[in-house]
Amino acid sequence: MPRIQPLAPEVVNQIAAGEVIERPASVAKELLENSLDALATRIEVDVAAGGTELIRIADDGEGVPEEDLPLALTQHATSKLRTPADLFTVATMGFRGEALASIASVSRFKFRSRPEGQELAAEIAAEGGSITPVTPRGGPLGTTVEVRDLFFNVPARRKFLKTNATEFGHLAEQFTRVALANPRLHATLRHNGKVVYDLPPAVDLRDRLATFFGSKIAERLIPVSSESDIARLWGFAGHPGDSKGSRKGNYLFLNGRWITDRSLQHALSEAYRGLVMIGRHPISFLFLETAPDAADVNVHPTKCEVRFRDSSSLYRQLLGTLRTEFLKRDFEQRFHLPG
Ligand code: ADP
Ligand code: MG
Repeated sequence: MPRIQPLAPEVVNQIAAGEVIERPASVAKELLENSLDALATRIEVDVAAGGTELIRIADDGEGVPEEDLPLALTQHATSKLRTPADLFTVATMGFRGEALASIASVSRFKFRSRPEGQELAAEIAAEGGSITPVTPRGGPLGTTVEVRDLFFNVPARRKFLKTNATEFGHLAEQFTRVALANPRLHATLRHNGKVVYDLPPAVDLRDRLATFFGSKIAERLIPVSSESDIARLWGFAGHPGDSKGSRKGNYLFLNGRWITDRSLQHALSEAYRGLVMIGRHPISFLFLETAPDAADVNVHPTKCEVRFRDSSSLYRQLLGTLRTEFLKRDFEQRFHLPG
């Protein structure tokens, strides 16, 4: 027998899970993105014990046909990419075909789905990566994914989880990003049976922001928009007086995906320089829309960091757009600290 052996698929999946699935919030992120890719208009998230015991996400999206269910759990199998060239023009949130296989390898997992035209729902289950055959079930159109006992078979990972409250905080943040990027989505989040958010479809972003941050802050938001060869930029910049002690109120989205970007973060701070006190951070909800090939999102498995083709033009666009808006206003409340 050769000394070098290919790894068993369960091991491959667990290694991949190590990269993408760090904590309950990572599971929620992947499942929410799948629901969005399936064009869901309604998503319900149920969580128990910060997501360590249960994460269940039900959507009304297009579903997976019964015969495809085993493929949904197969690593590097996806309905979202076909050719190598597609990789540079992907418009869906997912495309690596890794998330479900990874999650199923480190949890007790159930995936139930019924697409239009299929009489019954069908369910596939897995426990620590070992998959049980597909069985027919009752169920509405759409998909329900249930993830129980995350990392039950990976004690080393489980040990690194924080308190349930902290884990739930991270998970709720993933929910918030999706809810902000998709104001028309009807989205519900429950923790231990209690409703944390029940967000009806909003008419627009400001309406959605009012639900999250209160109408007083929402009313003071400054609309921004500009268009360049590379990007359309739009959204809201916070009133300097509504700044916070952390960067947690900074939201930046690229083509519907939440991202973090040091250069654009710096442009934002520059624009507010002199308007907010040192150590305070403006709130902002900024959306960039570019051609898919203006940015490479395939830098990191979680796709939160991107590589822009022309980062310095975007920097100037963001800084310029914000400055122009701010110059039109006279913020009498400079250096105002919220009482
Ligand atoms: P990716 O999203 O990168 O394709 P995933 O492992 O997350 O990989 O999902 C694998 C496949 O399962 C998807 O390509 C999609 O076809 C299907 N799928 C997953 N979740 C859903 C869902 N909520 N609704 C419909 N199809 C889904
Ligand atoms: Mg996915």
